[in-house]
Amino acid sequence: MKRSGFPNKRTWNSRKVLKEFLLSAFTLVFPIQCVSCGLEISDKFKLLCFGCASRIKWTSHMDKEVHSQIIQLVNLPCVWDAYSLFFFTKEGVEQVLIHHLKYQDSKYTGFFLGKRLGQKLKNKIQEGSIDLLISVPSHHRKKYDRGYNQSEAIAKGLSKQLNIPFSADFTFKIINASSQTRLNKNERAQNVKNSFLASPKFSNVNSIGIVDDVITSGATIKELCKTILEINRSIRITIFVLGVVGHD
Ligand SMILES: [Zn+2]
Repeated sequence: MKRSGFPNKRTWNSRKVLKEFLLSAFTLVFPIQCVSCGLEISDKFKLLCFGCASRIKWTSHMDKEVHSQIIQLVNLPCVWDAYSLFFFTKEGVEQVLIHHLKYQDSKYTGFFLGKRLGQKLKNKIQEGSIDLLISVPSHHRKKYDRGYNQSEAIAKGLSKQLNIPFSADFTFKIINASSQTRLNKNERAQNVKNSFLASPKFSNVNSIGIVDDVITSGATIKELCKTILEINRSIRITIFVLGVVGHD
């Protein structure tokens, strides 16, 4: 039986046409610009112009290197796989992208880049091998100030692309740690110690993916993994990040 209220193909198509029209009208008034250099770009589904995109150090064909680098950083047996979209370089286009994602009120940037990571991994992540995606949680005060959690935005894009459910109700940040930027590896580990809380619901999950924007020392993700392990010692964890930085 046909469900009443469910849009049929014709309604769906006319909605799509209207959406396209409104988007075109919007871009006429507010031209879309490359988030890095400000050059006007024609494709509304891109963040960067061709020149800036070509300067990004994408991880294409370097998944093994990324895997071993992140596995070494986190150094916990429960972490069995890891992926990154690009190698993060300070002063590079990558930093502009991450800055845009964190401070320019751009939830869309996170979603877009999460989807991009998902496209890259579409044939690498076996269907059903990961039960749930979570993001590194931010303290409610930070989330309130920024309006969103950038890692959550990335996770939602990845979730859509890989068809893995996402939940923000499994982990919480209970201590608003100060910025990690100027700290060394040991100081970073101390700074985030005991700052997370994990839900007892993890005991019913076999395999999760943790999503974050950039992994630097690995201290934050490691602390989150340790908190989750206190609930479920046999859980398997895959790490997904947009950018990976070398050791400090
Ligand atoms: Zn550009």
